[in-house]
Amino acid sequence: MPLPPSELRYLSSDASIEGVVSNERWLSGLRDSFVDQAAFDAALSAGDVMVYRVASVESANGEGQLHYGLGLLMPGKIGKEYFHTRGHIHAFRPAAEVYICLQGQGLMLLEHESDGSYEVVEMTPDRVIYVPGYTTHQTINTGTEPLTYWGVLSSQAGHDYEFVKVNGFRHLIVEENGKPVVINREDFWK
Ligand code: ZN
Repeated sequence: MPLPPSELRYLSSDASIEGVVSNERWLSGLRDSFVDQAAFDAALSAGDVMVYRVASVESANGEGQLHYGLGLLMPGKIGKEYFHTRGHIHAFRPAAEVYICLQGQGLMLLEHESDGSYEVVEMTPDRVIYVPGYTTHQTINTGTEPLTYWGVLSSQAGHDYEFVKVNGFRHLIVEENGKPVVINREDFWK
């Protein structure tokens, strides 16, 4: 079974890992992630942009192994909605994850599917976040510079994007009066 190298070099300034190709998500592929479709169309007609990318190291697989990745989420907004990742829940629901923020200013939305509760936690370079199992999670850049972070999780976790596509998030973080606020997604147009 192939294992990743015992050490890899990374560049925190642009969230790249030496020898690892980043998987890029561009605005044109993220329509489902934004509520305000008119603002989305306006932004896209001004030009497609990369919203986020992740360099993932997933060569070790099987019981006890870890996957990890370095993410970079650009600053920006679609109308009132900040740039964010699509978000996911782990295919293996009990799998937890640790996020370590390196640079920037953001939030992570955690929706605990087991009891319906949610949390919004800050992502700043002095914070580490524990995402428990059975939790849908999404990263939001509320700042003016790229938000970069490590994510470390079980190799058995997997990413269930379909769950988010079908069920969505129940909350949304939008800018009001220059500040991020959390609203119920269904209250967006009120
Ligand atoms: Zn995850």
